[in-house]
Amino acid sequence: MPNTDDELKRLLTDIQQALIQQKELFGDTINISPEPETRKAEEEPMSAKKKPPTVAEGADLFGFVAPKPPSPLDQLPPYPNEPWVSAASLSELESMICNCVKCPLGHTRTKFVFGVGNPKAGIVFIGEAPGADEDLQGEPFVGRAGQLLNKILEAIQLKREDVYICNILKCRPPNNRDPQPIEIDTCEPYLWKQLEIMKPKIIVCLGRVAAQTLLRTTAGLNDMRGKVHDYRGMKLVVTYHPAALLRNPNWKKPTWEDVQWIRKMYDEMK
Ligand code: URA
Repeated sequence: MPNTDDELKRLLTDIQQALIQQKELFGDTINISPEPETRKAEEEPMSAKKKPPTVAEGADLFGFVAPKPPSPLDQLPPYPNEPWVSAASLSELESMICNCVKCPLGHTRTKFVFGVGNPKAGIVFIGEAPGADEDLQGEPFVGRAGQLLNKILEAIQLKREDVYICNILKCRPPNNRDPQPIEIDTCEPYLWKQLEIMKPKIIVCLGRVAAQTLLRTTAGLNDMRGKVHDYRGMKLVVTYHPAALLRNPNWKKPTWEDVQWIRKMYDEMK
């Protein structure tokens, strides 16, 4: 209790200011919150409680939803007007595109490398382009990098047959040079169609080229690793290319960490 005139005056001023503030906020209605004990007694069981008004996801206090910032993936070109676009299965798609000669690589390849594995697995590993061994055998990741990819998969209790494996390009660039933009632009729609048919839960990009191509970015590999990116509604993650690990074994440990994390996420989504 206040025991001096001054304290009493200060208390009255505080009350006066609080009332002015209330009037500004609520008009002439005085808001008196019940004591916590009373409120508790009045509480109904959860199931019977009136639901609070729903606020749209991502809305602020006033219900305003900020527009999503534009993503470079929103501007992906449409499919070309070609018959394979209507393919209903991977085998149908493969049979419709395996003789492709739309870019110069179609004339230099030995075999078209479509992809391999379990399309229903929900996880797809995407590399850059076939190398010499893949070009000869018509299967992705069968050379030295492929052997290492098999070991990486084994480390997370997966086999090649348990996942789907493919590349950005279906044909080998001569001397294993980087894919050219015209080759990517011509070939990538085939990959979109593969992904559209498989609808994987997780896409794992092996290396910079695959990640930069799909994400439409020039970001470096380490900026893209350790994050879950959105690729047309699918989760996309990035790790080192196995061929890079053959060149620099110091990257094996971070790759191990990446794949443990990816495996956990995959298990949680299954
Ligand atoms: N490197 C790739 O990116 N893909 C393969 O299929 C083989 C090596």
